[in-house]
Amino acid sequence: MRIEENKSLKLYNSFGCNEISRYFAAVKSVDALLEAIAWSKEKIIPYYILGAGSNILFTKPFEGLVIKIEIVGILKTNETASEVFLNVGAGENWHHFVSYCIQKGWGGIENLSLIPGTVGASPIQNIGAYGVEVQETIESVTAIDTQSNQPITFNNLACKFSYRSSLFKEENNRYLITAVAFILKKQPQLRTEYGSIKETLREKGIKNPSLVAISNAIIQIRSSKLPDPKVLGNAGSFFKNPTLTTIDFEKLKTLFPQMIAYPISDDLYKIAAGWLIENCGWKGIRKGKVGCYEKQTLVLVNYDNASGNEILDFSEEIIQSVLKKFEIRLEREVIVL
Ligand SMILES: Cc1cc2nc3c(=O)[nH]c(=O)nc-3n(C[C@H](O)[C@H](O)[C@H](O)COP(=O)(O)OP(=O)(O)OC[C@H]3O[C@@H](n4cnc5c(N)ncnc54)[C@H](O)[C@@H]3O)c2cc1C
Repeated sequence: MRIEENKSLKLYNSFGCNEISRYFAAVKSVDALLEAIAWSKEKIIPYYILGAGSNILFTKPFEGLVIKIEIVGILKTNETASEVFLNVGAGENWHHFVSYCIQKGWGGIENLSLIPGTVGASPIQNIGAYGVEVQETIESVTAIDTQSNQPITFNNLACKFSYRSSLFKEENNRYLITAVAFILKKQPQLRTEYGSIKETLREKGIKNPSLVAISNAIIQIRSSKLPDPKVLGNAGSFFKNPTLTTIDFEKLKTLFPQMIAYPISDDLYKIAAGWLIENCGWKGIRKGKVGCYEKQTLVLVNYDNASGNEILDFSEEIIQSVLKKFEIRLEREVIVL
């Protein structure tokens, strides 16, 4: 394990914020990860686990050890007539894994194509897109429990998955994920209802889409709507979609009949955070080096080497204006450090 000192994190977060970590190590095995943790404990400094940095906003220097997870490998552990069982290293690139499964004809995660980040981070906020959440295909998650320093495997239920959250997000930094086990389908039920997937397939003249066709359609839709972090720093949706009780939702709907929302249970509605922000006048607004992306208001972008604090301040202004107009406090999806 090689420890680097005073390492700029600019290339290690999709916002491109130039904060410094006192120490930095990339680990390619579970042993190296344990070694890195032991090293930081011995030095009595904190450590922080990093995947691809696509859901993090660094706002200050980190006076400890950043451990970048680079444990890779996709292993087929079992197979039945209808299912495939895979064990995947936490450091595998998520989209690479999705593409690998699609090529093999294994379905279940094709709607999650092109989400940046690593496989190991996917259970943490239970990544989701186009009507699918990763929890639907996860069999178990293996991690190091930092309280005992021992490996531990959680079955799907024990992961406590919910909308953009899980046990791993709740127990912030306690479990260091080393591998994720997936169950994929050989004859998958394709999901084309959400967003403009159907429309995109129709435009291409595709009536009976394959996994590849769905993935390509999603890549096309995402690329047209979302900024590429390599060109314009961002971390995807900056805020979560807030949840309201049906009673509160109906009250608000009488005041704002155009409000975009959908029911998630008998007594709860999810409100489109992008709609709330847009209706406070933020669409395409830029202040200094930071702004709301013109094609997707929910995405905050770093136009010109903004610091994490500039982005944080901008996000706070949005939170306050939504609170004032709708009495809803937006919660950040992005992790602020
Ligand atoms: C352009 C863009 C589009 C996006 N679209 C979506 C979308 O459609 N849906 C969606 O859900 N998300 C989306 N995201 C957010 C992001 O891609 C996901 O949250 C992704 O899972 C983050 O992976 P990462 O490896 O970059 O994690 P990081 O940003 O590196 O880390 C995120 C958190 O997980 C922790 N962590 C990372 N790896 C481990 C590990 N192995 N063990 C323990 N803790 C770990 C970190 O400490 C941190 O707290 C988007 C981001 C961008 C930039």
